Amino acid sequence: MKKVILLLLSIGLSINVYAQSEDEQQLKKIYDLALTDSKAYDWLNYLSNQIGGRLSGSVQAQLAVDYTKKQLDSLGLDRVYLQPVMVPKWVRGTPEFAYFETSPGLSTNVPICALGGSVATPLGGLKAGLIEVQGIEDLEKLGKENIEGKIVFYNRPMDPTLISTFASYTGCVDQRYSGAEEAAKYGAVGVIVRSLNLRLDDYPHTGSMGYGNTPVSKRIPAAAISTKGADLLSTTLKLNADVQFYFKQNCKQFDDVESFNVIGEIKGSEFPNEIMVVGGHLDSWDLGDGSHDDGAGCVQSMDVLRLLKKTGYKPKRTIRAVLFMNEENGLRGGNKYAEVASNKKENHVFALESDAGGFTPRGFSFDCSDENLKQVHSWKGLFEPYYIHLFEKGYSGADIRPLKNSDMVLAGLRPDSQRYFVHHHAENDTFEHVNKRELELGAASMASLVYLFDKYGIVK
Ligand SMILES: [Zn+2]
Repeated sequence: MKKVILLLLSIGLSINVYAQSEDEQQLKKIYDLALTDSKAYDWLNYLSNQIGGRLSGSVQAQLAVDYTKKQLDSLGLDRVYLQPVMVPKWVRGTPEFAYFETSPGLSTNVPICALGGSVATPLGGLKAGLIEVQGIEDLEKLGKENIEGKIVFYNRPMDPTLISTFASYTGCVDQRYSGAEEAAKYGAVGVIVRSLNLRLDDYPHTGSMGYGNTPVSKRIPAAAISTKGADLLSTTLKLNADVQFYFKQNCKQFDDVESFNVIGEIKGSEFPNEIMVVGGHLDSWDLGDGSHDDGAGCVQSMDVLRLLKKTGYKPKRTIRAVLFMNEENGLRGGNKYAEVASNKKENHVFALESDAGGFTPRGFSFDCSDENLKQVHSWKGLFEPYYIHLFEKGYSGADIRPLKNSDMVLAGLRPDSQRYFVHHHAENDTFEHVNKRELELGAASMASLVYLFDKYGIVK
């Protein structure tokens, strides 16, 4: 009886395997290979632990260019090359220092870091009274009479009720990016911005900021304060509005320097002039080692080429892994790639970016026509075994967006976002916070989507 059941089971199994479509088999091959023989985690280990934070224009950024180029060279691709691009070079300098003073001599230190692109404080630091606001819109209500000569403290927290933490981030990031430019219009002397982090902890989170058209002489220094520091400061201010805040930072903007996008390519066998891009950004902020943002996206993109090759798949279209330089504080790499593509009249049909962390993939968001999204939905069943279920219209990625035209499909990998902003742009964006399997599942999901779009093409 046992034997009969086993026999029936094995017939059932073999019928099942036999009935698997070519696509099901190819996705299974990709996922199996990613989970047993991926290079992504080793590459990330090197980028993170041997090179570290890779801010544009830094020695580390150049080492990352050299390393990833060498690794791509070792994959036996059809072409690996560097694309020159001029990038801004901003340097943090010595560690920042801050405290608030409730009465003369009675001070409490708080963790801060300069925002990327900020000017320095005066050499001896900056000390002034504080005014807390919940956003840029409060400035007008308060007016110059309440702001002039003070440090503006932006303290609107990320909304914890939004399930997509990227949506909470979007709801607050204006304070960081434009807070200094706007506060300077009302005579503020500096700004302190609550870190874009949903967790209460002691890490300040940096990120880019801009001064718009503010003349150099009117630019005021901007720093982020940790979420715990922000809460402490806010509570203290409610008890004592006369708190003085001191901070010191000596960051500096240098002239632009040359850097590179790193590109690896498999030439298409049927339509070599139709180009598909898969990418992430190679630069990172300097506080951590940029493992999630965006070392993960780079090594996943490199692994997409490797996985497709190793499964024996011959792409019909040309597939490029592009590691973009300078996403964080300038987007020069993404803009340069699109500019060169347009000058060369290259026909990009598809681009996929991974820049939302190396966490468990949930699916993809698409910037494309309804017809193309419909085609993606027809592949839903293929992704189901891998718990990839999110296929919605939305944002793709900063680096690939400059390529956008109405005929192409732009997509972004959407990993689970709950822990992303705990690490984003902070000292704790480090290798040990990336899970090997989660990273590999992301690479496999990307390779699968690239495979399907290559095989079936985009709907025109
Ligand atoms: Zn990023």
